Amino acid sequence: MFAKVATDAALDKTFDYIIPPDFENKVMAGSRVVVPFGNRTLEGYVLGISKTTDYKGKLREIKEVIGDRPWMSEHILKLVSWMATYYMAPIELCLKAVIPAPIRNTNKGDGFQSRLYIETLIDDEEELSQIADLKLTERQLALMNALFDQGALPMGAFATEQKTTPATLRKLEEKGLVKIFEKTERRDPLAGKNFLPSKPLPLTEEQANAKKIICDAISQACDLEKPAPKPILLFGVTASGKTEVFLQSIAEVLAVGKSAIVLVPEISLTPQTIQRFASRFGKITAVLHSKLSDGERHDEWHRIYTGEARVVVGPRSAVFAPVHNLGLIIVDEEHEPSYKQEEAPRYNARDIAVMRANYEHAATILGSATPSLESWHNSNNGKYIIASMPNRASKQMSKPNTIIVDMRLEAMGKAAPPVFSKDLIDAIKRRLTTGEQVMLFLNRRGYAPHVTCPACGHTEECEDCATGMTYHIDDNRLRCHLCGIERSCPSVCPQCGCENYKFTGIGTQRIEAIAKKLFPSAKIQRMDADITARKHSHEEILARFRAREIDILIGTQMITKGLDFPNVSLAGILNADSALHIPDFRAGERTFQLIAQMAGRTGRGLLPGDVYVQTQTPEAPAIKFAATENFSAFAAQELSDRKELDYPPYSKYICITLKAESNDAVSAYADLLAQQLDSISNERFRVLGPSPAPLERIKKYWRHQISIFTNKTNLVLAYLKEAQKTLPPPNGVTIAIDIDAMNTM
Ligand SMILES: [Zn+2]
Ligand SMILES: [Zn+2]
Repeated sequence: MFAKVATDAALDKTFDYIIPPDFENKVMAGSRVVVPFGNRTLEGYVLGISKTTDYKGKLREIKEVIGDRPWMSEHILKLVSWMATYYMAPIELCLKAVIPAPIRNTNKGDGFQSRLYIETLIDDEEELSQIADLKLTERQLALMNALFDQGALPMGAFATEQKTTPATLRKLEEKGLVKIFEKTERRDPLAGKNFLPSKPLPLTEEQANAKKIICDAISQACDLEKPAPKPILLFGVTASGKTEVFLQSIAEVLAVGKSAIVLVPEISLTPQTIQRFASRFGKITAVLHSKLSDGERHDEWHRIYTGEARVVVGPRSAVFAPVHNLGLIIVDEEHEPSYKQEEAPRYNARDIAVMRANYEHAATILGSATPSLESWHNSNNGKYIIASMPNRASKQMSKPNTIIVDMRLEAMGKAAPPVFSKDLIDAIKRRLTTGEQVMLFLNRRGYAPHVTCPACGHTEECEDCATGMTYHIDDNRLRCHLCGIERSCPSVCPQCGCENYKFTGIGTQRIEAIAKKLFPSAKIQRMDADITARKHSHEEILARFRAREIDILIGTQMITKGLDFPNVSLAGILNADSALHIPDFRAGERTFQLIAQMAGRTGRGLLPGDVYVQTQTPEAPAIKFAATENFSAFAAQELSDRKELDYPPYSKYICITLKAESNDAVSAYADLLAQQLDSISNERFRVLGPSPAPLERIKKYWRHQISIFTNKTNLVLAYLKEAQKTLPPPNGVTIAIDIDAMNTM
């Protein structure tokens, strides 16, 4: 028998190995093995087994099998192979995405943490005194006394407490008085947290209808005679109670003995979210997220792998969780760009979820208040089933009011529009008198994104990136937001010596400073990546906001997602245009999503909510339709524009980014590749570019892009695969091919 093995080394290939007779029952597809490779040994996975091999040379034998059973199911292997082909990613990178490093790299043993425990074998002092010839020292006697009636104690902690050493305790073991043993300790990311059990809440009619559609899909998933159920798009406005529908759907899946995976964007994986799942499902809940320690990640993975954990909550990588008997995958906020991985393998977890559910005959729910136009289109054309929840779950909660503030009027008679419109200032003041809370959004951190000398025009720019340095007022430093380089802000212009640097443009720090002047009595807090770089500060700020110790919360993206504060009745988007004017065909879609998300943060309690949108382009469809919360009208308009231009979802978008330290080298190769692509396309697909990327230079690298829009994805993939051999990038030029790209910068 022969095994096809993909090693951990970067080779993008599989190799055949002989399965020695001893291992015939042990080596299976998905097994992790150790194989000889040249004069080294490598670890890797068996992707398949066959009776024959096409390899003509001399084959070598598998040396070792790691673990007692395969690390990946046949379904996951199929998914890996699809992912490698579709996203043009090396197979070993796909395998690494599926089995993360803390699970894979367990060179010393199995990766579990065990701890030494000590326990007395003698009941009490009396029993101890009856043992002949003991001759205990006073110290040893005291230690024995401390152990009586205590059960097993962690030895290290006991030694410290008793001011003794493990060697001394071992002496007691030699005398047969205590036993010292190892016990596996679970590193539990939820340790020390108490979750009160929660019961299913009564459903509104809309929620009940949605649940019915989902339950039908779940029963179809249980019937292997039928095709796998179609994905369900759960289109529910913010606060319509999607999470409760998710929870009750999961309960249905558990009841038939299956497991569920819930994907949430990393940014929404707040303690609040985790609590909702852990409260409902208790110990069978596993949580995976980027802040886990390697040990916690390892142990959670194994709890899922052994079938102990049956509900998995996590960000995009959790789509690969090794659950047993998958019944349901939920992708919450399915439109979120963070489901797309920006480095190879450049997969979209939402699309992987749909694919995996199909392979494993499971149900899928994609939830959103503002679905991606891809998913919306799929539900229009019958590929997906739609379940709608157009109203908020609680009758007392009214829909938020969206107020569009035309900043062109505010700017009249002034050099530039003010940061805060008069309407917004008045609205904030009203909240401050009534004790209601306010959230203000700006998508730029720092104080000022442009630092210019008024005398000679010199601007402070990053030497390695084609971008201006952002001024941070709290430590008087300039930072590049692309590469992270920082330096102190010179007090005089290095070119002409002028002392009056001009700080233009606005960042969150500046908003904070202006707000403090406008609302001197208000308690104002800023929350952005600069602030939350400190561990737990994110949670601390949210806890203080919840406790109403903050009146106005100013922040970036991180305040727009999933937060639920009943006392917030006003949200302000200070510059809606900044999202609208990025060079990306999804700019309108993103802007609509942003406004809807911010509106969703308000009016979640008994207070009605308002969202103020400051813009200079109130006529833009994304803003116009967001004002009436009319997603379907916006989607209809946007889809008709996209159809005209043949943009996704009417075509697939492939973004090829080429980069090099030499601009000449990268631009010459980009020209060549684009020409080739264009000549073979024969009008079967559209090639745009090459052109300098919107972020033309990052970390010393010049970047060029070629965009392809196609309905013949396989053809393009085949050609690109071929081109990597026939037209390889010259030395120093790297190529990144992003299929279904979300980020065009
Ligand atoms: Zn100057
Ligand atoms: Zn830079």
